[in-house]
Amino acid sequence: MMETKINSDQEIIDCLAPMKTVNKTKPEPALVKVKDIVIGGPEIIIIAGPCAVESMEQLAETAVSVSKNRAKILRGGAFKPRSSPYSFQGLGEEGLKMLREVSIRTGLPVVTEVMDTRQIEVVCQYADMLQVGSRNMHNYPLLKEVGMTRKPVLLKRGMMATIEEFLLAAEYILSQGNDQVVLCERGIRTFETSTRNTLDLSAVPMLKHLSHLPVIVDPSHGTGLNWMVPAMAKAAVAAGADGLIMEVHYKPEEALCDGQQSLSLPEFAQLMQDLKRIAQAVGRQIL
Ligand code: PEP
Ligand code: MN
Repeated sequence: MMETKINSDQEIIDCLAPMKTVNKTKPEPALVKVKDIVIGGPEIIIIAGPCAVESMEQLAETAVSVSKNRAKILRGGAFKPRSSPYSFQGLGEEGLKMLREVSIRTGLPVVTEVMDTRQIEVVCQYADMLQVGSRNMHNYPLLKEVGMTRKPVLLKRGMMATIEEFLLAAEYILSQGNDQVVLCERGIRTFETSTRNTLDLSAVPMLKHLSHLPVIVDPSHGTGLNWMVPAMAKAAVAAGADGLIMEVHYKPEEALCDGQQSLSLPEFAQLMQDLKRIAQAVGRQIL
């Protein structure tokens, strides 16, 4: 047993040694471009939208409102990783088409999750950025395949992944030649049950210390509680995050997925006002 553990630790050390994500080999912070939006520069980039694409009306009304309130990228899942196979699984390609149409209408680039290597081709036809979700952070074939595309990737931290494992997952993507990777802290599983996850904001300075990649935070999945999202969003920006991804729904009480953690349109508008001041206080801006 002992020998296996020593071997696996040694393997981790060996893997970390040539890591391209580590500052010492790549001192310049990476800028990740999603169409004309730059993540990792002076501007704090806000990604907002529903958990899942449900209908044209839901997506369009939400997108128009978040866009007016300075969100720069639209989120929305078409392929949803649900805990129960009987829960709403997303609209699939139909949802991707809605994302593309609303993107054209609003000018917002779109990010959406790809859960399986077999979905990469179709998702690439419609999305501007590929999301690899928490449950798939350890899916190495998927990481390699998104690494072979030339789409920017939003990589979410596995809910039970260490910082080292998270950075090595990013390394899988980079190793295939795709250096457009954004890291996203979205909460980890701990003994605490009062929140959906424990949002590890110490991951923000740590990831920025160890890596040149931009770091964003998801306070929606990080807390699971819509009333707590503004406090943690502000704290994330104060801690040095390059952006936020948040769930916003035009009718949270009717959402098919994650309504309890979604901000309403007025709540999002208010939060954006507050975030502007926090960003300025830490030498950043929300344009
Ligand atoms: C999501 O952002 O839609 C999502 C499912 O998040 P996570 O993978 O972090 O659970
Ligand atoms: Mn969700």
